[in-house]
Amino acid sequence: MLQPRVRFAPSPTGALHIGGLRTALYNYLFAKKLGGTFILRIEDTDQTRYVAGAEKYITDALEWVGLDLNESPNLGGNFGPYRQSERKEMYGEFGHLLVKNGWGYYAFDTEEELNKKREEAEKNKQTFSYNVHTRNSLRNSLTLPKNEVEQLLNSGADFTIRLKCPADEIIYVNDIVRGQVEFQSNLLDDKVMLKSDGMPTYHLANVVDDYSMKITHVIRGEEWLPSTAHHVLLYRALGWEDKMPHFAHLPLILKPAPASYINNKNVDSLTEKFTSEFYKKNPNFTLKPKQEVQKMIRGILLDVNNISSRVQIKNKDKEDKIIIKEFLKSTLFGKLSKRDGDRLGFPVFPLAWQGEKEDDSFIGFREVGFDPKALINFLAFLGWNPGTEQEIFSLDELVEAFSLERIGKSGARFDYEKAKWYNQQYLIHGNDEEIAQQLKSIFDQKGWYTSNKKITKIAALYKERATFLNDIPNKAAFIFSDGFSYDEKNARKKWKEKNAAKNYELIDILKNTTDFSPENLEQVIKDFITDNELGFGDVMSPMRIALSGVAGGPSLFDIIYLIGKGRTIDRLKKGYQYFENL
Ligand code: GLU
Repeated sequence: MLQPRVRFAPSPTGALHIGGLRTALYNYLFAKKLGGTFILRIEDTDQTRYVAGAEKYITDALEWVGLDLNESPNLGGNFGPYRQSERKEMYGEFGHLLVKNGWGYYAFDTEEELNKKREEAEKNKQTFSYNVHTRNSLRNSLTLPKNEVEQLLNSGADFTIRLKCPADEIIYVNDIVRGQVEFQSNLLDDKVMLKSDGMPTYHLANVVDDYSMKITHVIRGEEWLPSTAHHVLLYRALGWEDKMPHFAHLPLILKPAPASYINNKNVDSLTEKFTSEFYKKNPNFTLKPKQEVQKMIRGILLDVNNISSRVQIKNKDKEDKIIIKEFLKSTLFGKLSKRDGDRLGFPVFPLAWQGEKEDDSFIGFREVGFDPKALINFLAFLGWNPGTEQEIFSLDELVEAFSLERIGKSGARFDYEKAKWYNQQYLIHGNDEEIAQQLKSIFDQKGWYTSNKKITKIAALYKERATFLNDIPNKAAFIFSDGFSYDEKNARKKWKEKNAAKNYELIDILKNTTDFSPENLEQVIKDFITDNELGFGDVMSPMRIALSGVAGGPSLFDIIYLIGKGRTIDRLKKGYQYFENL
């Protein structure tokens, strides 16, 4: 196959949701697998939705996860500029070419005129569409006399250029993921291609750029599938049909399964949350008192395991029930939204984002403590699978294994527990020295100073017990600071008065021990226990509690080694005195 050229084409309208990052990832994997080119194109023609900082966010996110670009606004390339706002002069000509080719027309309808049509349609419970059925009764170059059209154009009247969708045709989109998808041309709207300010809409700019940048494959989210019918027509209209890229539409990312996060413990707080969301969405709902609404929501949430069958709406349901159930259906199922993260307590953005308003600020996977490699591995599996049991893949291994053919059609359910599992796997299999290096900067900030050798030991001991790197400092805090309390219940049980003298004797032995390596400590302590015919628990359990506050944790000898001689002696003395008085 020809080396592919693919583009990731986000609009800088805010932070990039993980769905967008997945699109970037699949484009990257596909390009790299075939030695192709991965391009970033910023689609910023709609200046009303432009958000400062969004482009930087996008490039920072790609950089953080290691998706290296070949061509981009910053890197340049042979097909630039790569920001649509810098290409705006290029599009007008193609808009007018549509009219010339008979594939487009000038529409002079004002916003008020169109709004009136919309209102009229609404009154009849219909939606107005500018299309093959309605265009002949609207004010455009298809209906107005030629001289009037010319006059309007010459007088500088506002106009848009619309795509003239053909009548009675089936438009085929051959999609790599979904197979052949058919669209009835009579149901398509005659979308605006060139706006009255001369700027292109997304559709025109997107197709013109894909063509001029020699894009071979368009890999993007499923929400763009319906637009693809128009894009196919545009390629035909502009005479580029033989250069049309292949399309692959990626499955939606769905909200997490309710059963994965609703439990008896949080059902009350979730009920409250959902109830207040319900009233926000349905402010005028008076069919039932609030208490009953709340009760019903709680009931449905409790039924979480078979919720999908229960939420089904039956015709005989009363209107109030229907409204509540519809609300829950859309709140519990369907597409993952950027608000779900806040609502359900997990990140849905790669990096934190500080929006203008409070509710437009989000935490990111990076800030929660995710390893970008784990995030990538997790995202790769949200809609794709290798067809084998293997779950852990480096980026290079993903490149090797990836194919568009193995992308699924059905929605991929977001599963935060799985994301955490991936992170844990990356920690467990991570290199101790590398983890230690990251830990060192955290420890330095806390004023916890110790040798690199000991930090590496901490990494080795605690990585297995952590989900995030940041869990390690929490778990290892006792090594550096005495500010922990004792598990008194266990201390009372394990501290035996009859062994007290022996326990103190061991402190003296440790005082006289110079080699504080875990191996030697093990030897010394075990010898002492056997020589004195004591039980291991009688000696080692009080030691553990005195040194760390709790009876569990990694090997005692490792702990003593890490805490060091001076602190160990002090803590044992202090602890034993405390236990004696319990
Ligand atoms: N600008 C569109 C977006 O923000 C791009 C869609 C496409 O890839 O064609 O998602």
